[in-house]
Amino acid sequence: MTTNVTTVPAYAAPAANAPLERTTVPRRPVGEHDVLIEIKYAGICHSDIHQATNGWGEGIFPMVPGHEIAGIVAEVGPGVTKFQVGDRVGVGCFVDSCRECEYCLRGLEQYCVTGGTGTYNALDKNGEPTYGGYSTHIVVDENYTLRIPEGIGLDEAAPLLCAGITLYSPLAHWQAGPGKKVAIVGFGGLGHMGVKIAHALGAEVTVLSQSLKKQEDALKLGADHYYATSDPETFTALRGTFDLVISTVSAPLDFSAYLSLVKTDGALVNVGAPEEPVKVNLFSLIGGRKTLAGSMIGGIAETQEMLDFCAEHGLGAEIELISADRINEAYERVVASDVRYRFVIDTATI
Ligand SMILES: [Zn+2]
Ligand SMILES: [Zn+2]
Repeated sequence: MTTNVTTVPAYAAPAANAPLERTTVPRRPVGEHDVLIEIKYAGICHSDIHQATNGWGEGIFPMVPGHEIAGIVAEVGPGVTKFQVGDRVGVGCFVDSCRECEYCLRGLEQYCVTGGTGTYNALDKNGEPTYGGYSTHIVVDENYTLRIPEGIGLDEAAPLLCAGITLYSPLAHWQAGPGKKVAIVGFGGLGHMGVKIAHALGAEVTVLSQSLKKQEDALKLGADHYYATSDPETFTALRGTFDLVISTVSAPLDFSAYLSLVKTDGALVNVGAPEEPVKVNLFSLIGGRKTLAGSMIGGIAETQEMLDFCAEHGLGAEIELISADRINEAYERVVASDVRYRFVIDTATI
């Protein structure tokens, strides 16, 4: 219990659009309610790339991305009650929030009115920049730390902390389950988790992907049906079919076309985040009392529920494990949609 890590190895983007390189970053001393986590694996999320390239606005540099973190507790502060040294833990997209607004009190910390504290590319309550998971260690408040159950490998669990909860939360909120028809638009890091989770929830799952290239994988991972969206016939055949359509695509869609696939009282939920505003013809909502909605990750309690659900059903992400010196190459491949289905960094190589 004497470790006092203050400077740890990490991979950082020194400036917007610059390649990531090995460096060191400071970590705060382990406080009363903190856990020190020895990071084992960190997933690469498309939003890491959006932020490292200032796609979502001015970032804080140097930037250590990574909000799909899985590791082992190496030290606990004196006031920690939920975790012990040696526990398998995860950290997702945020590491703190105000803890007193309506949403924090309801366990919806992801919608905290203050915006909360991002795991990276944010300032903590002391005004210090936060650094993410492309690193060997991180110090996190126990209340923002998740337990990773036995039964999922830490490597395949890492992407659940963003990709998994991003799909689980809307599937749960819009009640995907037996008797419901769910479509997942896009079959990448997010989409493949949507298929696995929706299938495990008991819904009838359809994948809508640009081409038929990933059909075999999708059917193997739990999809019941698969259609290519490049074929206009798809939109005719599936008109008015789905209770819930979840788009994981981060490029702007033809929303009117996708809304035509939704049943009356159904919803089209967007979890992908295009950098540019999109146009929607509202007639496509009115004629069927349809909902066009968005959803962002999940709260701490729901994220724990998702991890427990995934462990119970034997669900992890499909991953390609890489060494840290391949992060820049991985970024190029993520942008080119050339990954099946999530890159995970082995942090022992940092
Ligand atoms: Zn993410
Ligand atoms: Zn709050």
